[in-house]
Amino acid sequence: MSLSLTPQAHGHLGHTDPDCLFCKIVAGKIPSKFVYQDDEIFVFHDIHPWAPVHFLMIPKAHIPSLAHVGAEHEGLLGRMMVLASKLALQEGCNPYPDGGFRMLSNTGAEGGQEVHHLHIHVMGGPRPWIKS
Ligand code: 5GP
Ligand code: ZN
Repeated sequence: MSLSLTPQAHGHLGHTDPDCLFCKIVAGKIPSKFVYQDDEIFVFHDIHPWAPVHFLMIPKAHIPSLAHVGAEHEGLLGRMMVLASKLALQEGCNPYPDGGFRMLSNTGAEGGQEVHHLHIHVMGGPRPWIKS
């Protein structure tokens, strides 16, 4: 895996991996159904949704997984957690407690991770879902 320090879209500096699918989505090289972005976070709909609402929250910087984060990422991860409920409502999840949403971050092969750029799945909407 080659890593380089390059200016990202919208002027943010961080590591990107030119071979990484989600880095390409952040850079706009692969289209996605956009939800939200700021200097450090990018959010888009999952191409194969499991639930009526299913989007992915990712850091713009290439962090391979939750197994790679440290104390320097606590602020970023906290901001992603706080942002999730706002975006869930915006994207059509029903309000808590009857509605709500699920957050999930598959980590490593045994954790079911397929794309090795840290991402948090946010799923919600009326049941049944494709995967419970
Ligand atoms: P993982 O299994 O790594 O937790 O999840 C990867 C997710 O990325 C899967 O749910 C998959 O549907 C989604 N995904 C894979 N390729 C693309 C793509 O090109 N665009 C979008 N929007 N989602 C993708
Ligand atoms: Zn990446």
